[in-house]
Amino acid sequence: MTSAGRFAPSPSGELHVGNLRTAILAWLFARSTGRKFLVRVEDLDRARSGAEAVQLRDLEAVGVTWDAAVVRQTDRLGLYNEAIDRLAADGRTYECFCTRREIQEAPSAPHAPQGAYPGTCRDLSHAEREIRRASRPAAIRLRADVREWVVEDQLRGHYKGVVDDFVLRRNDGVTAYNLAVVVDDAAQGIDQVVRGDDLLPSTPRQAYLATLLGLVVPEYAHVPLVVNHDGARLAKRDGAVTLGDLAAVGIPAERVRNLLLESLGLPAGPLQYAVAAFNPEELPREAWVWKTPAAEMPSG
Ligand code: GLU
Repeated sequence: MTSAGRFAPSPSGELHVGNLRTAILAWLFARSTGRKFLVRVEDLDRARSGAEAVQLRDLEAVGVTWDAAVVRQTDRLGLYNEAIDRLAADGRTYECFCTRREIQEAPSAPHAPQGAYPGTCRDLSHAEREIRRASRPAAIRLRADVREWVVEDQLRGHYKGVVDDFVLRRNDGVTAYNLAVVVDDAAQGIDQVVRGDDLLPSTPRQAYLATLLGLVVPEYAHVPLVVNHDGARLAKRDGAVTLGDLAAVGIPAERVRNLLLESLGLPAGPLQYAVAAFNPEELPREAWVWKTPAAEMPSG
């Protein structure tokens, strides 16, 4: 199987400069280690019509290229169902009928970490389940037998995080991100996962699930986010933050690419020239504050 890195955007809108910077980093990590690079559209949830085409066009505009056809998660439901069936056959799943509110209001189990599912539906009797099924469709949760798991991250080191009985399939039938990402990365031969460090807290759950499914746990590198001047994660409301917005104020894609490369301490220019200069050890470890640059005045 090929060894590959990837970028996996959710087609919920346009990519902003933070997403593009993460994509460039994922591409550089892959290329500098001789890996292939793939793009996977995570459209199980939050897909907005037309967003995918714009995202792919913007990736290409900053020089991110990929080596195989783009994969869409909505085309892969069979794979996810198969994985859930395997876990179910091993007694590793259970039905959960809790509403969000019930989970918030449930007393947490002793010593359970904050935010962990309290286990309300873990040991329902057959009769109780029958009654609950009549009133509400069930979500499927993993029956985890650990409370935490350690992952090694190339930038963040040894990271220990919570594993609870997380959702594998939501009660509206949609496969949960944590399951899909694990199944897809393994099925696509992705052995290097580079993404924003807001996803680090989910990583122990994913690595644990991969282990239960007998899949290879990929290498991880969680990269710092781009933030606004208040230090909050960059969002659409922060002004000109997408290639479309920036082009409208006179800043072309190449200039955005160069700004992003410079923010990483890398030479401006086509991405392939940055590969030789790329060294993960030297990457900035802090979030990068985005300031919309002034448009260049046409000379002459
Ligand atoms: N689709 C996720 C997002 O856009 C990224 C998932 C991942 O890289 O594992 O936030």
